[in-house]
Amino acid sequence: MASRYVVAGNWKLHGSLVENQARLAALLACDLTSNVDVIVLPPFTYLAQMQQQLDGVSLEYGAQDVSRYPGGAYTGDVSAQMLADLGCRYALVGHSERRQYYGESDDDVAAKFIQLTEQGIVPIVCVGETLAEREAGQSWAVIERQLGALGTALATQPAFMLAYEPVWAIGTGQNASPEQAQAIHGQIRAWLKNNTRQAEAIPLLYGGSVKPDNAEALFKQPDVDGGLIGGASLDVDAFVKIIKAAEHTC
Ligand code: PEP
Repeated sequence: MASRYVVAGNWKLHGSLVENQARLAALLACDLTSNVDVIVLPPFTYLAQMQQQLDGVSLEYGAQDVSRYPGGAYTGDVSAQMLADLGCRYALVGHSERRQYYGESDDDVAAKFIQLTEQGIVPIVCVGETLAEREAGQSWAVIERQLGALGTALATQPAFMLAYEPVWAIGTGQNASPEQAQAIHGQIRAWLKNNTRQAEAIPLLYGGSVKPDNAEALFKQPDVDGGLIGGASLDVDAFVKIIKAAEHTC
């Protein structure tokens, strides 16, 4: 079990200035522990609000995506430099919703990873298989391909996190069992040992329908170092219970 956990809340396409303000106030009113790193990931438009509200507090924030380009004629994109300007320390890359709905390729994910690390932002790289791939016995082959596409970037860059997010578990209410999560996390850890330095220091998060009632069993697995939380992160009570589950597991 990890001595330090990470619990990140992916707010997806939700929120407003007023709603976020209430959510942050409720979160900051809780006793957030020092052995769990808590990160919120709002839409781009609210990062400035996070920068203003979270200055000097232990709650951290980051972005849900980044451009694969450093700048130029890429309408609608937001660069890693812009995220750094907004004080982001973290950003998701390769979330399955981006891969699935926007056709993001492994190559895009690798380019985004590099953009972030060049700005000193910690990428949280999402990997995971679809239900059809799992049923075809392809889970590890898919994840190994997704990791392999990051190639030398992972080998040379110690500051990143990985989130195993089985696509069939995201937003479906059907989480991977603790044993299923550990089986993949163990394989990811072994892969990291063979392909990177400091494999033990890289946080491996599980994501996919984590809720207060399943969080502790998932976090107790030896290679699960925390969670990437979607739906439940919008409900402060549920999110805090998940943070507490990580705290109890430390
Ligand atoms: C996610 O979007 O990263 C996620 C894990 O969503 P949910 O917790 O809602 O399954």
